Amino acid sequence: MRKNIVAGNWKMNNDLAQTELLLTDLKNQNQTSNAEVMVAPTFTNLYHASEALKTANIEVVAQNMHFAENGAYTGEINASMLKSVGVETVILGHSERREYFNETDELLAKKVDAALANNMRVIFCFGEELADRKSGNHENIVESQIKNALFHLEASAFNHIVLAYEPVWAIGTGETASPEQAQDMHAFIRKTLADTYGNDVADSVSILYGGSVKPANAQEIFSKPDVDGGLIGGASLKAEDFFAIVNAF
Ligand code: PGA
Repeated sequence: MRKNIVAGNWKMNNDLAQTELLLTDLKNQNQTSNAEVMVAPTFTNLYHASEALKTANIEVVAQNMHFAENGAYTGEINASMLKSVGVETVILGHSERREYFNETDELLAKKVDAALANNMRVIFCFGEELADRKSGNHENIVESQIKNALFHLEASAFNHIVLAYEPVWAIGTGETASPEQAQDMHAFIRKTLADTYGNDVADSVSILYGGSVKPANAQEIFSKPDVDGGLIGGASLKAEDFFAIVNAF
């Protein structure tokens, strides 16, 4: 009943020419799975990408946005700007935003509210650091990240939310969580949702895994019952690798 999703997070990669090449390569790929496919280029390439992929089965999404409506926030981008270039979904809370740009759960709650108020869909990212995993505190950290940023919402808001569990120690490191570690955490996340919002909500929310997913490990991770897809960084920068992951269901 819930959707399988594979989203490519291009991070701060690809200028216009490189983006054009990757978009052309993506359009030439063959999808054999039922997954919803998304890519997240940089802000400067969003309009171009959303025009280029209009007829493809690939949604263009943003990597971040500000919560304010308009005004004196030099360097920032808001929800209506994203929507005006054809973007309906935004990634929020990525660990790189938390670490390098000091984004807190409290700030992220405001961003989530702004996205939902603008009828956007949110891919909400969270995950523990290595020290939390080593000390056995990973479930507590994840629970508080989700609760602080999302649990003020009404149940119906979860129709517009996708969760992305990304253990920080697995992002860009080549080290993936084992399929069992991913499944255990995803089941815990779903139970946390169910405890507050009930089973219907918990069973309908897609929970993606992110952190060094590649063609060689995607199938095993995606085969776990509570893993509904992936948020892909490095391996999303090559169309063939990305579609090998898209087709791993
Ligand atoms: P990675 O990044 O696939 O390069 O580990 C994942 C992410 O940050 O979303």
